Amino acid sequence: MIKPKLLYSRKDMLEENLRILRKRGVDYRKIAEIAFNQQSKYSDTINLEDCEDSVLKILSLRDVFHILLLGAEIDRLTEEEKFEGPIQDILAHDLGVFGVDEILGLAVAGLFGVIGQTNFGDIDVNKPGIIKELNDHGTGEHKACHTMLDDIVGAIAAAASTRVAQMSMEEEAQRDLSVTQEKLF
Ligand code: MG
Repeated sequence: MIKPKLLYSRKDMLEENLRILRKRGVDYRKIAEIAFNQQSKYSDTINLEDCEDSVLKILSLRDVFHILLLGAEIDRLTEEEKFEGPIQDILAHDLGVFGVDEILGLAVAGLFGVIGQTNFGDIDVNKPGIIKELNDHGTGEHKACHTMLDDIVGAIAAAASTRVAQMSMEEEAQRDLSVTQEKLF
């Protein structure tokens, strides 16, 4: 009997997540662009490279690995019409009131707290960049299904945007601290 593979390092998970995203037509740098555009509204010290680093960090998290793996397979199986019963049409037509895709998105964004989730809400409503592309692809005659993926990708962007904001606040706090300490001595 073949031994099941259950052990994945963070490097393995990152590589597999990147492979799945590429296979489903998503370049991780497009996710970073959404994070950058969202966060640069609030801070002018944010740069695209930090957003790309954050996306890669988030893509190495175990919860994200599990959710992306599952979501991408649901989309693929929907395209192949492998589901039985009402769920096949509900998934294939990306029914607006379905909501399970948003639950997965909220779970990913929630790794970065309530702000992660509100940032996800903003992306979910406004559909910037690659999210709109995925959404349009899923509704045209292409027959692609991105019902799960658009929310998961949006949530990764929201998580990256929140992480970058938290890091820049930490850096600012550290700078402030060193100035205060200089004054003390
Ligand atoms: Mg969706």
